[in-house]
Amino acid sequence: MARTPIICGNWKMNKRPDEAVAFARELAPKVAEFGNVERAVAPTFLALTAVADALRGTALQVAAQDGHWAAEGAYTSEVSVTMLRPYVSYVIIGHSERRAYLNESDENVNRKAKAILAEGLRPIIAVGESLAQNEAGETVEFVRSQVMAALAGISAADMAEVVIAYEPIWAIGTGRSASGELADRIIKSAVRDTVRELYDDAVADSLRIQYGGSVKPGNMEEFMSQPNIDGALVGGASLQVADFTALIEIAARVKG
Ligand code: PEP
Repeated sequence: MARTPIICGNWKMNKRPDEAVAFARELAPKVAEFGNVERAVAPTFLALTAVADALRGTALQVAAQDGHWAAEGAYTSEVSVTMLRPYVSYVIIGHSERRAYLNESDENVNRKAKAILAEGLRPIIAVGESLAQNEAGETVEFVRSQVMAALAGISAADMAEVVIAYEPIWAIGTGRSASGELADRIIKSAVRDTVRELYDDAVADSLRIQYGGSVKPGNMEEFMSQPNIDGALVGGASLQVADFTALIEIAARVKG
């Protein structure tokens, strides 16, 4: 089954609004051609509306780095998915940095996923194991549990809008990536086959699953050559126009 790859740059807490807009304006024309790959950038909330305005009418989409499930209310510092709707196509949820530093729970990831889908947006649900879990041989069991918790109560029809990003925590920002083959094996057994059990073959085979963790132009081809990997969630390499452009070019060539 053909799945359109998606490359999403997660800028994390980088780029002021002026820098973010300048970057988006420089990047958009460079990646205008690769029609068989979806591409998106995720600025900070502070820069998000300005970047969305700058990218309107281009093929470069905007993602949010998080989004609260309640439409509005007494949630100091939060931004709701409802408020994000006019500006973004995707919302990243469950990133390991939020899980590790900001108490993001599986339960909240599930609430957010449902709110994102209810607003007609697409969640990118990040899952992945720690180094200790990896070394203890708990990767598949742990990632599987994160996938099951995140998808609880989500219909098969809504699954067409869901993207899952498998990001081993020990590979994020460390320069140490999983091998393409290993990432593919975990993605298949812990993510795609779990979705197959929860839903059916059609849902599992059409689900887009990204790899994330120190993806760079030098290792992108290895990841994109894997049958179960449908794109990448990218931190560091998304902060440079040349690197991010190269990642999109490679995805378009290898998956095209
Ligand atoms: C990420 O934060 O999602 C990520 C994959 O970061 P990096 O590419 O820098 O490892």
